[in-house]
Formats: sequence, structure tokens, C-alpha cells
Amino acid sequence: MIPVQGFAGQIVAILGLGRSGRTAAAALQAGGASVVVWDDGQAGRDAAEADGYALRDLTQTASYAGIAALIVSPGIPHLYPTPHPAIAAAWAAGVPVDNDIGLFFRSFATDEWDGFETTPHVIAITGSNGKSTTAALVHHILSESGRPAQLAGNIGRGVLDIDPAHDGEVVVLELSSYQTDLARALTPDVAVFTNLSPDHLDRHGGLGGYFAAKRRLFAEGGPDRAVIGVDENEGLYLANQLSERHGDDRVIMISSGQKLTEAGWSVFARKGFLSEYRHGRQVGSIDLRAIPGLPGAHNHQNACAAYAACRTFGLGPRAIEAAMQSYPGLPHRSQLVTERGGVRFVNDSKATNVDSAAKALLAFPRIRWICGGLQKEGGLDGLLPGLAHVAKAYVIGREAAEFARQLPGIPTDICTTMSSAVAQAAAEAEPGDVVLLAPAAASFDQYDNFEQRGDDFMACVRTLP
Ligand code: ADP
Repeated sequence: MIPVQGFAGQIVAILGLGRSGRTAAAALQAGGASVVVWDDGQAGRDAAEADGYALRDLTQTASYAGIAALIVSPGIPHLYPTPHPAIAAAWAAGVPVDNDIGLFFRSFATDEWDGFETTPHVIAITGSNGKSTTAALVHHILSESGRPAQLAGNIGRGVLDIDPAHDGEVVVLELSSYQTDLARALTPDVAVFTNLSPDHLDRHGGLGGYFAAKRRLFAEGGPDRAVIGVDENEGLYLANQLSERHGDDRVIMISSGQKLTEAGWSVFARKGFLSEYRHGRQVGSIDLRAIPGLPGAHNHQNACAAYAACRTFGLGPRAIEAAMQSYPGLPHRSQLVTERGGVRFVNDSKATNVDSAAKALLAFPRIRWICGGLQKEGGLDGLLPGLAHVAKAYVIGREAAEFARQLPGIPTDICTTMSSAVAQAAAEAEPGDVVLLAPAAASFDQYDNFEQRGDDFMACVRTLP
């Protein structure tokens, strides 16, 4: 645990008692603060009281008397579509609002570091898709190369739950737009922006607000090094804004598909090969096609981001390549479940938005595609490039018929349930096909979360006759 600094002897309020709220409470107490807590749900409040926390109704402005700060969990809207009443009350009372990420950055460095040979570093990874994969891959490569590393944030442990840093340690953080938007301190040494596509627009008041939230990671005074995906205009804009002159080494541009030989420092993947260029000269390359845990162009983009990040820590191309070979992949992302009679079953339940599903479709040549669920804003047009790879779609979800109606030019079956979709797809699949769960939709119409949806897919596959 990282004891929170700067609040000793003060009272801090915590809104939301999920994982991050509880960890923040413990870390604040470890740093000498007292906490009062509030949760909208009665069950959360009962559990907090049972654990000995003092409850206070934070939706009332009067409750903020004597409170130094309000710490908010990422699931709670802080501005759009409307601020949570407790946040509005904190504003009215003039109390600063922050989150666990802000607390982490103000508390991570300690006096003990004066005795370290190598200062600990933080690398923070954001973007619309590929954050978890890139973060897990960076952590894996560093660990395999003998660098002490911890993985936290949106993936793995809560940021305040990690151990205080050892000499030379690297903390790898995956940060969502909700987290970067609200944090009052964001000072990573290395920051990574993978890509941008529309997602969570209701929480950010549109695409501009969503990009602005992610950009905060690179704001004034920003990181020593920035690894930036430049396959969208937003990435190009960000890279340009951070570079002080042509070829500025602080910025490493990455791309999946574009040849970036003119930039100062770049890492790009084309046709399955990763190349690193510095000042017009190729200085590293990897055959990504031979790496089993990273299939498809989208994972090659993640490989470029992770490679670039690890290069900033002084690792050599060969060491990075060797570590990539043993990267095991993450559950629910391009996860090979099994192969039966020449048909592979792949679980990409985490493809909750159109962009990630489109990328998954491009990763395999002939697909029996299980899709559907709670549709996000923006329609399904983004899927069009991938539909050429789809032999047939098996649509699940409460609104399966409406979803299928938006998939022009491909055969579709309205299956509604996972078990029916898996059975149908398996019965019709031919050797060489991939039965792919990549829903292009959220799971909440039928499941608690994408993990439960992926688990259901895998259970249906395993019980096939
Ligand atoms: P995040 O943490 O940003 O949600 P993940 O690594 O968990 O990213 O992947 C989420 C989904 O996006 C998965 O379905 C995965 O296959 C897909 N994906 C992974 N990397 C990329 C990428 N670079 N571009 C587009 N989609 C991706």
C-alpha cells in the first residue's frame, strides 16, 4: 500500500465504496488522515459501517464542513451527463475533488528514494483500445528482462494498493479517460497514447471532451518521454504539440500500417513486421507474425507501443523480442479458447466498442462472428472494413434483430442467446474458420460485465457435443 501524503490530521471524504474507494480509504488512513464515506447503495453503506467507517451523507453541502478533499471512484459521473449530487455539493462547498490516481501521484515518491541507486519510474498508458494489452505487455517485458515492475490502475491492482517502490522499480499504470479526467496530479515519467476512437461519449460530453481527458496525461510540464499512436489526427496533433523541433527525441511516434521513417524516433508495424527508426535509420526490427500472444494488426500496434516504452527504459530490441515471445495474452482479448476439427474459438469479449470489434474481425481471414448486446452511440458503420472477413454473423442480445438489421450484405442468424449462437456457429463452421466472440457492444443487457459474457462463451464452447 502507498500511504497517502499531505492529509495527516485532516478529514477526507470518499464517494463510492468499490475497490478503488476502499483502497483509497485504507491508504488515507495509513497516511494519518481520517475518512468519512458515502455510497449511493444501502448495501455499500451497510458494508462500510460494518467495516468501521464513519458514514456521512455527502450529497449535502453542509456535510463538507471540515473536509479537506472529496475522493471519487471512476464509475461515478463527475461532470457529464450530470455531476453526481455529492460532487455538485463539494463544488458548492469549495472542497477540492480528486481521485485515487491524483492521490497516488502526490504520494508515490518518498524520502527513502534518496538512498536509491536508480529512481523508480511510472509509465502511464491511455487510449481508447489496447491499454490493458499494452500495459500487461510492458509489465511482462520488464519483468522478463529482470527489471522490478508492478502493474496497476484500470488493470490489476488499484494504484494505492501497490507496494512502495523498490530501487529501480517501474510502475506500469493503465489509466482510463475517467481516471485521467479527474486526477489533480498526473506526472508519469513515460506516457503512452495508443489510439482514439469514440467511446464513453456520454461521460465526456462528446469526442472533444473524451480526447481532452486523455490529453491531460501529456499536459504542461508533461512526461520525459511520450509514446504516441499517430494513426488518427488526434495522435498526430498531440505528437506535434509535444515536439519542440523536428526529430525531438522526447516523442516516439507509433503506427500500425504507416511507414514512419521521417519522424525523429518511430516504431511502426507493417505486414507483420515491427521496425524502429531513429533519425532516418532503422535500428531494430521484429517479426511479429511469430508471436502467438499478439495476433492481428491491432495487437501489432500494442506491440509497437510496448516496444517503444521499453526502449525508453534502455532495453535492447532482442531482449524485448524474446520477452514478447512468451507473452501469454490477457483473458477476453483475442483469447484462444480451443481448436476443434480445424476450427479455432476465440474470445474477444472485451471488444465492447465498434473499433475494437472491427480490429478483431481484421485479425482472422474467415470468421463465424458472434456479436451484439447493448449498442453504444455512433452506429455500426465502423465495422464495415471487417465485414469482408465474416462468413456469417450470429447475433446475441436483447435487441439482436435490430443489431442484425444494421449489418448489411452478410448472412445473419438472430440467435439472442450465447448458447444458441455458439451451437449454431460451431455446427456451420468449416476447417480454417474462426468462431469469434467480438460483440461490438456492451454486455449489460444480458450480463454483469464483459468478463461474465466471455466466461459464458467459453463455457458454451467447452460443453459443445
Ligand atoms: P483497453 O484496456 O483499452 O480496453 P484491451 O487491451 O483490453 O484495451 O483491449 C480491448 C479490446 O480492444 C479487445 O477487444 C482487443 O481485442 C481490442 N484491441 C486491443 N488492442 C487494440 C488496438 N490497438 N486497437 C483497436 N482495438 C484493440
